[in-house]
Amino acid sequence: MVYWDHAASTPPYDEVIQTMAEVMKKHYGNPSSIHRMGEDAAKLIKRAREVCAASLGVKPSEIVWTSGATEGNNMAIKGAAMQYAGRGKHIVTTSIEHPSVYDSCLALERQGFEVTFLPVDGKGRVDPAEVASAVRKDTILVSVMHVNNETGAVQPLEEIGRAVKEANPLTVFHIDGVQGFGKLPVRLEAWRADLYTLSAHKIRGPKGTGILYKREGISLHPLLTGGKQESGMRAGTENIPGIVATAKAMRMASEQTETFMARVGALRDELMAWIRTQPCLELNSFEEGAPHIVNMSFPGMKGEVLLHSLEEHGALVSTKSACSSKTAEPSKVLLAMGRSADAASSAVRISMGLTNTHEELQQLIRALSDAVNRLQPLRQEGMN
Ligand code: PMP
Repeated sequence: MVYWDHAASTPPYDEVIQTMAEVMKKHYGNPSSIHRMGEDAAKLIKRAREVCAASLGVKPSEIVWTSGATEGNNMAIKGAAMQYAGRGKHIVTTSIEHPSVYDSCLALERQGFEVTFLPVDGKGRVDPAEVASAVRKDTILVSVMHVNNETGAVQPLEEIGRAVKEANPLTVFHIDGVQGFGKLPVRLEAWRADLYTLSAHKIRGPKGTGILYKREGISLHPLLTGGKQESGMRAGTENIPGIVATAKAMRMASEQTETFMARVGALRDELMAWIRTQPCLELNSFEEGAPHIVNMSFPGMKGEVLLHSLEEHGALVSTKSACSSKTAEPSKVLLAMGRSADAASSAVRISMGLTNTHEELQQLIRALSDAVNRLQPLRQEGMN
């Protein structure tokens, strides 16, 4: 089996697995305990915080440990909304965000906040001018993702950040950075990011852990209350193996960004070039996109059918994002890009990593070619 689903999760680095096992075995003290083992555990967290901060070019005190990006996004959005509700109740986001952002905004709408969901163009990009006109005096938060998890579309974050701060310097700018870190350069300063979410399992770290960067001076109402861990921002005994492994994965992934862009980008280009030669396939990803995600539609055929056919040929891909692939609805992201319901129901996402080889790509293209030829006569006109 060849794994082509790196946007859903990634194979952990061997070093990550070894580190976790070692920390679990030797450093099981509670970092809040004041004896030697507690202090040792606290030191590990301090060191991991420094490593994560260095990977992002920020201060260690600006890193908050989370259980992953779902928590990070909830913490950022609900935390900022609760904290700054006195200033205003308007939030701006986009129509292509991950459900952990989108649904958090919907939950706030039910609590009396007003949310503007910005549209995207045919390539899945938000227009910074639309951000500028959406931000008002009472806009407390803008949340825009770096790289879309279904299509790989990259947002013009520098222009968006500038638009946000020029329209209202007090508006908090949050970025869901999950699919961009380690794949493209990250420039929190240039983007004017106040909050930035990451998940370790998307960068070859463990599942159930991640970070939220919270710029100095920004306050968030905590979601979890209890002990005083994370300066009261997130109560609960720290996941030390996960934290240490997150730092390791962040350091390794950031050091490999250029290699990733070159090697994985070359695989993506080759696959996209082949798809362009196939009259019955339509690309939903573009050259300007991230180096690891190729989304395509096979109109007239449910995405699941192509997915299972590829699986029979030993290739594991996705339809939509892993988080929404078990729902029967067509992809919201593709619909927002103006694609038809048929195209949005017949989409398949191939997402790559540094573990994939050129030979594997040739196999994948052969499998795709075979599946498409076999399934073509079964396609239904105007499905949906
Ligand atoms: N944001 C994006 C863009 C994602 O791709 C994902 C993972 N599907 C998440 C947030 C949620 O991350 P986690 O699995 O760590 O909760």
